[in-house]
Amino acid sequence: MELLSPAGNFEKMKAAVSFGADAVYFGGPAFGLRAFAGNFTFDEMEEALKYLHHRGRKGYVTVNVFPSTGELGGIEKYLKRCEAVGADGLIISDPGIFHIARRSGIKTPVSISTQANTTNLAAVNFWAEQGASRVIMARETSAGDLKATVSGAGCEIEVFIHGAVCISMSGRCLISSYMTGRDANKGECTHPCRWNYALMEESRPGMYYPVYEDERGTYLYNSKDLRLLERIGELEGMGVKSGKIEGRMKSVMYVSVVTGVYRAAIDRAVSDPDGYRADENWRFLLDSVSNRGYTEGFYGGADDREALNRDTGGYNRSASFLGVVKDCRDGELTVEARARFFPGETLSVLEPGLKRTDAAFEIIRDEHGSPVENTRPNYVYKMKFPGNAEQGSLVMRF
Ligand code: SF4
Repeated sequence: MELLSPAGNFEKMKAAVSFGADAVYFGGPAFGLRAFAGNFTFDEMEEALKYLHHRGRKGYVTVNVFPSTGELGGIEKYLKRCEAVGADGLIISDPGIFHIARRSGIKTPVSISTQANTTNLAAVNFWAEQGASRVIMARETSAGDLKATVSGAGCEIEVFIHGAVCISMSGRCLISSYMTGRDANKGECTHPCRWNYALMEESRPGMYYPVYEDERGTYLYNSKDLRLLERIGELEGMGVKSGKIEGRMKSVMYVSVVTGVYRAAIDRAVSDPDGYRADENWRFLLDSVSNRGYTEGFYGGADDREALNRDTGGYNRSASFLGVVKDCRDGELTVEARARFFPGETLSVLEPGLKRTDAAFEIIRDEHGSPVENTRPNYVYKMKFPGNAEQGSLVMRF
């Protein structure tokens, strides 16, 4: 099973590669959902794809909006440019864009986005017969359906294994459009499913009556995040071709840690899918990055009453992201800081491969060699380190 990670920008792409992604997906300058991710220009896409290919990895470009007729202008040229810069695949939702891609003779393989809401074998094979290379199943698919689908599919099957989940059917949500005018199906979701709601009697504007599920408020639609870590052996055994991590808007730490955990999980599953068990340390690491609590979503069926996070619309996270290792030589780390940390703190360096080394950095020096009282984001610092950390390792506070 391919491990497919999000690449919201070039730095996150490199982090995903360092921590073991086989492939990444990212948006180009238009037509991709996630309007607020750091999408790539064509020049950046070309550079990114060269970087990936040089390391034997792949890059898929999201072209997964549902455009109106008036918004289709330039799409054929756009798809051809994606092909010209070396995209390994195009992720498409809209049958119109798919049709244009096929008619224009583009050879780049097409994956049908989860936004197309493909929930069954017949729908998968419909897309396969149209020329799709891969279908990314709707997140509403149960394990039983998935197994039957993979075994009869005329194309590859990709499955979301980790990340945020919509409470609505994939690709069918209008809440954000309705409430804020920003269309989730054009990549502009404002996440109103995560908001806390109140009741207002219409002749008393501004008088909000709280609606309590309990003392923490009411988050009627706020899904926990998907985590199929325990199921990687099953997915591998079914023949799922690609396991996808959601999160183009998430941090470098998130992309690195989640990719690293699923790299280890897939490697274990490949060698022994039936005997696969997840590690306690992997669960610990997934808890350390931002999450809304975890669920297996629809994987076990549609009746998981614990799939909603009723406590808060925000995130849990048990670790802080402090910096990225740029170099390590002669017992000294060079770190680009992302947050403040202080001399004498015991911090952790997490390497690709998930080796974690705890160290007390008694003296932190700036680039000129002068000791500092604390770090500042985006500045480079040097610290003594009792090991040999790889470039791209994370400095974290657990
Ligand atoms: S409002 Fe919530 S359920 Fe709807 S698309 Fe946005 S994140 Fe998904």
